[in-house]
Amino acid sequence: MNEYLLTPGPVPTTRDVSLAEARELIGHRGAVFSEFFLNLEEKLSKLLRSEGRTVIFPSSGTGALESLAANFTGPDTKVISVSCGVFGDRFREITAQTGARMINIDVEPGSGVRPETVSRAVFEHPGADVLLLTQNETSTGVLNPIDEIIAALPKGERPLVLVDGVSSVGAAPCYPEEWGIDGLATASQKGLLTPPGLGLVWLSERAWDVAAGRKCCSYYFDLVRQRKYIFKDRPENPYTPPVSLYFALDAALNSVLADGWFEGRRRAADALTAGAEALGFKHFVSDKKFRSPGVTALTAPGGDIQAVIKSLREMGLETAGGQGSLKGKLMRIAHYHDVRWPEISLILGSLFAASAPLRNERENFIASAFAVWEGERHER
Ligand code: PMP
Repeated sequence: MNEYLLTPGPVPTTRDVSLAEARELIGHRGAVFSEFFLNLEEKLSKLLRSEGRTVIFPSSGTGALESLAANFTGPDTKVISVSCGVFGDRFREITAQTGARMINIDVEPGSGVRPETVSRAVFEHPGADVLLLTQNETSTGVLNPIDEIIAALPKGERPLVLVDGVSSVGAAPCYPEEWGIDGLATASQKGLLTPPGLGLVWLSERAWDVAAGRKCCSYYFDLVRQRKYIFKDRPENPYTPPVSLYFALDAALNSVLADGWFEGRRRAADALTAGAEALGFKHFVSDKKFRSPGVTALTAPGGDIQAVIKSLREMGLETAGGQGSLKGKLMRIAHYHDVRWPEISLILGSLFAASAPLRNERENFIASAFAVWEGERHER
């Protein structure tokens, strides 16, 4: 049975994206590549509402985060890290590995990061060089209000704001220049609807200046070296780029840039939540303001969520469980792709069947149909 991928990355790709990925290769040192690359950069600029070019690494999101850490942190930097889950912790860990002095602020999993929490931390730790934030905490399905957080920072000299946008960019607005983000890292395989393999980094002018004055502790992820190549009139890449994935990303961006795309993700999230709650599940993020438009985390009060995940898998729907301390406690369903009513009803129908034991139902109509589909004798 084919898997219907409802994991928070990778996500289902469209036929257009697959066809683009299968295009014949072009050389990455020629004019054709430069022209294609400029066009791709223009789409990324539109998405981020910024003129600045984006560095694209052949890496997953972790590589993009590592690049931010390697270029902006080290034993000489004081870093405030705000985490509300596994991926905030991961960004912290990556940064700590450069020898940076870390000040860690933890927000309870399932809660969002409030602007006042961050502004207090920055106020209480004057002289911090870097602030680490996560826009979408994938492990809990929380979307943090990065624009409000930055707007509430104490006035005056402020740390460089580095944001993990791995699971938000493409699914929710993220406008780094307008909001005052200095470094943004993201990846291809979630909101950008592309197969895994690309890590993307955007920097503010201020961040480019800071990077130019520092020695990067990585050769491959040195952003200043990248800039020398990609900011040329005829841009290229310092190293061999995964051109096929660039083709795929270029095609996927057409979906993400379509009118109403962000609203569509939100609508899918809300409809899915309404249906799941009617079935007895509980959204893990109690404050609606912080709910992610890309991934929804559900609990099954008094029930076995692992059994639900297992039943869904048997039906061909691949969802994700909880991570870290939430292992065994959560189910996460992603809706980064073009989820419309047919997909919502498919997911909810399967959830209805998979959650029958939670409601002490011996059977229901979808479970009956599935049993026949599986060729089992169904006793009435
Ligand atoms: N940050 C966030 C918010 C993520 O969701 C993920 C992946 N789930 C990562 C970082 C790590 O990205 P990757 O697995 O692409 O390295």
